[in-house]
Amino acid sequence: MMNDPWGKLLETAKKVHLANSKLQDFCPFPKDIKKQEFEPYHIPASDLMQNETGLLTRDYAELRDAFISASPYAHWRQTYKGTIIGERFLNEFGCYGLIGPESPFQSEKIRAWVVYMPKKFYYPWHHHPAEEMYLCLAGEAVFRRENCPDVRLSSGGIMEHSANQPHSMETVEHPIMAYVVWRSEFGTKPVLTFKAVSYTHLRAHETGRNLVCRLL
Ligand code: FE
Repeated sequence: MMNDPWGKLLETAKKVHLANSKLQDFCPFPKDIKKQEFEPYHIPASDLMQNETGLLTRDYAELRDAFISASPYAHWRQTYKGTIIGERFLNEFGCYGLIGPESPFQSEKIRAWVVYMPKKFYYPWHHHPAEEMYLCLAGEAVFRRENCPDVRLSSGGIMEHSANQPHSMETVEHPIMAYVVWRSEFGTKPVLTFKAVSYTHLRAHETGRNLVCRLL
């Protein structure tokens, strides 16, 4: 194993987190962090992220590269395994923890992880009781939240999701990498907001209003 990618990654994430007033106001970077053991778990998204060339960034090259360097040693999550989400999503949606379960560090105060999506990728509507904040490190995506206008975020952009507020995300001509934190309700994992319909059906409704899905 290469020389402790986790120590470097934690230090870099901490520097970014402490320097960002929105992240700090949302959840101060914790002081109770402990190292922990975990088993790595590989999925194809890890290779995609390591070979990605489209993660353009303004201020976050160091953190982007630290997340990429640690990729081979991470436990990549499959949060939506066993749902209607589909094979491409399970293989290509990238997410691994920095602070939390199956991650190199733990804290009682926050969860923190990286999210990566290739270009032309759709993350359907989902929700969770945890309050969440995204910092876009590199690339860009369209973020959607219930009862809010769509927002296109690129490097440095911030998005907040309140408890159980449905949200979705879509990349078009660029991939995205984001640093994501939760500050509450860690025990309940995300669920898809519309379970009674197919992935294709969910996607079809993304371009219009969500009313039809919502009634199913
Ligand atoms: Fe979320």
